Amino acid sequence: MKFTTKFLIATAASLSLAACSQADTAAEGEEAATDAPKWGYGEEGGPEKWGEINEEFAACKDGLEQSPIDLPAASEANLITVSTNYAATEAKIEDKGKTIQADFAEGFTLTSGENEYGLLQVHMHTPSENTIEGKAFPLTAHFVHANADGGLAVLGIMYEEGEANPAIQAMLDNIGASAEMDITAMIPGDLTAYNFPGSLTTPPCSEGVNWHVVTTPVTASAEQIAALNEKMGNNARPVQPLNDRTL
Ligand SMILES: [Zn+2]
Repeated sequence: MKFTTKFLIATAASLSLAACSQADTAAEGEEAATDAPKWGYGEEGGPEKWGEINEEFAACKDGLEQSPIDLPAASEANLITVSTNYAATEAKIEDKGKTIQADFAEGFTLTSGENEYGLLQVHMHTPSENTIEGKAFPLTAHFVHANADGGLAVLGIMYEEGEANPAIQAMLDNIGASAEMDITAMIPGDLTAYNFPGSLTTPPCSEGVNWHVVTTPVTASAEQIAALNEKMGNNARPVQPLNDRTL
């Protein structure tokens, strides 16, 4: 784990995480200072180049436990069941440029085995970043959590096209504002999940993130998925090598 407690506390206080990367703000500051190209998802500064853009981003090319990954069929994986105490809550919703994100006040937790993590924010990717048996879902949400020791845990939820999702609609309708979001609508009742070590999926691609990808998808409407994609663009990092990890 490369995050210091001080850094994490500062991050949690400012609730400025973006797209799995709490270093987004710092990275942009460095880019401005060094005039290096900005990271993104297009040709210039795209995922294949992230590791070259800034020495702080070296893990993007040298890391051995990078995210996202392709996951096997659920029947072939060692799954765990996690729990949350999520409930309807006030959230601050922002367009971060590369993602739409909602920040939360303290109080919500993710329990994974013996570990408890506090919810910081949720943000979106179109299409999904992790894939299952080679298949991407059209939309994923990453609920980012941290524990007191600075450890990060992500709860990844897949969305398939279907009924509109009221919490996602609350995000779409309130960008740049605070609004009530019932985040229980964004997760399934069954939180059986793939659990594996991984990284932030955006620069600096820091490792030591405890990943959970829930096997049961939730629905969002075609209109909601299209609206998010229109605002964010395609913001999915390609899948990375599994290396020595087992699932
Ligand atoms: Zn993410």
